[in-house]
Formats: sequence, C-alpha cells, structure tokens
Amino acid sequence: MSTAEDLVEGIHDGDRRALARAITLAESTRPDHRGDAEAVLAAVLGDTGHSVRMGISGSPGVGKSTFIEAFGLHVADQGHRVAVLAVDPSSTRTGGSILGDKTRMSELARHPDVFIRPSPGGTQLGGVARRTREAMLLCEAFGFDVVLVETIGVGQSEVAVADMVDLFCLLVAPGGGDELQGVKRGIMELADLVVVNKADGDLAAAAGRAQSDYANALHLLRPRWRAWTTSVLACSSLEGRGVAEVWAQVEHFREAVDRSQELATARAAQAVAWMWSEVHDTLVDSLRQDPRVAELIAPLEAEVSAGRVTPAVAARRLLAAFRS
Ligand code: GDP
Repeated sequence: MSTAEDLVEGIHDGDRRALARAITLAESTRPDHRGDAEAVLAAVLGDTGHSVRMGISGSPGVGKSTFIEAFGLHVADQGHRVAVLAVDPSSTRTGGSILGDKTRMSELARHPDVFIRPSPGGTQLGGVARRTREAMLLCEAFGFDVVLVETIGVGQSEVAVADMVDLFCLLVAPGGGDELQGVKRGIMELADLVVVNKADGDLAAAAGRAQSDYANALHLLRPRWRAWTTSVLACSSLEGRGVAEVWAQVEHFREAVDRSQELATARAAQAVAWMWSEVHDTLVDSLRQDPRVAELIAPLEAEVSAGRVTPAVAARRLLAAFRS
C-alpha cells in the first residue's frame, strides 16, 4: 500500500490508479488505513468543492443506470469530467459490484473523461455514507467537476445522499393512476428535480400525465430553496431524448443557488452535520467495542425486547458502563 504522500502526488498528477487506491483506503475499516485516508483527505481538502454534486435516486427498475449512462455521456460530451459514485447500504445486488457497475454502464465506463467507482459493499448506512462523501472529495481533488451519486438501496439512503449533494434528482417512471407510484412524501420533499423517465413509445402519454401529477403534488410542498422551485421534466434515457434538458436544468439550479448564496450556506451546514455524524459514529463504535459495554449488550437487548427494561434505562446503563 502506498504512503499517503504518494497518493496525494498521484491524485495531483492525474493518476487514476492513485485515485482508486485513495478511495479504497477511505473505504477500509482498518484503523491504520483510516489514519492514512485522513492524511490524504486533509492534504487535498483545498482542491475540493469545485464540482456540481448531484444525487440520483429512484425505485429499482425506474431506469437509473440507463439514465446515468445517457446523462453522463451527454455531460461528458459538453466537456465536463464526470465521476459516478453509488451508495448501496443494502448491497443486495447479485454478483460482484465491480462487474455490476461497469456492465450496467458500459459505454459510460469507457469514456476517457468518466470515472465510475463501484459501490462499496456496506452494512451500515453511516459507514457507506462516510465513504461516499470522502470518495466525492477525492474525485473533486482529482479534477472531476460533476459528481453523480446514485442511491441503489431503497429507503434510508436517499436522505444520506441528499445530505451530501447540492441537487437531489428523483427519477420516476410513468405509472398509471394518481397515486404517484408509492413515492414517499419524504422523498418527494428532498427532490430539487423530478425526472419522469421512459417517456417514449406506449409510455409517452402516461409520462405526460405523470409529469403534471408530480408538478401538482410538488406544488403542495414547502420549497427547499428561495432561489429554486423543484421542476418536473420528462425524458427517455433509452432514446436519449430530454436528457440534455435535464442537464440544462441542473446548470440553472447551480446558477440560481450560487447567486442567492444558498449553495455556500447549504454546503457549510452539510460539513457541520458531517462532523457530528462522524462524532456519533465514532462514539458508538468505541462504545460497542468497550469490553465492559460489550458484555452488557446481549443481556440488555434481551431485557428490552422482552419489555422488562425500558430502552431509555438500558441505554443509560450502557452509557454508565462506558463511562465507568
Ligand atoms: P435501475 O434499476 O433503476 O438502474 O433501472 P435500469 O436502468 O436497469 O432499467 C430498468 C429497465 O427499464 C431496463 O429494462 C431498461 O432498458 C428500461 N428502461 C430504462 N430507461 C428507459 C427508457 O427511457 N425508456 C424505456 N422504454 N425503458 C427504459
């Protein structure tokens, strides 16, 4: 394993293997790796922050991979350097993730200005979110000016991704009826852009209806930004239609929230929130590893699940054992 200085030098020299290795280091859970990863991140911090950070989410099958391939190629053809990362806390995907991600977006993966990082198989969302945030910073330091973060797991990962990006794009499929295909209100609230995918062939008319249904539903939600109102677009990732318009909207968004200073404020708040989640994760990790706590965990969990001890009392006992 290279030293932190070698990796920093490699990243500055545009060596992709150094970037990949630095990300691997950041993904490692070994304490000695953590120290090196933090040294690399500290050294490149001044070169970060210059990208458009875009989250892309949507239920499985809505067309995320197909969209990212078409969208990424379009953005790269505009002269941008695009990195694609994924947050996959469930890591239920079959087969090796490396193969999975590369074959999912084969054309994009071959583009010289595109970097696709296979999703790290994670167990806990917190850990995966941290690794993705760090990978994002490393990609920025390398010179990628558009970072796409895809959520693969369903559920909690949307919130984690929304907390690390500038713009959160929700991909939906044209569904029948007005129930908005079970998209949860909480996830709608995170969206800065809703894209109705599969607006082609037999689905074109349904996509048009879905577009106005979503626009109406969004109308009822409180806007997240002063300078930006969530918009709804339709596209066909398969045919590549409407994809350029999505990128144009992303650029409008960036301009608007930059001008209103809201982007800087949002990023500053994200950084502080990240600090606290690091504190939280680190504390919980060391608490769980403490031998005095460890021996109490199983019996207390049993007492709590049987309803004999309240969760609050059990929590206080664990904390007391940790502090003693
Ligand atoms: P993911 O699970 O969200 O990543 O979805 P995929 O990108 O794997 O796509 C799921 C299915 O939808 C595949 O069979 C795609 O070919 C299809 N699909 C994706 N985008 C479009 C589109 O724009 N139009 C149509 N008709 N099908 C699409």
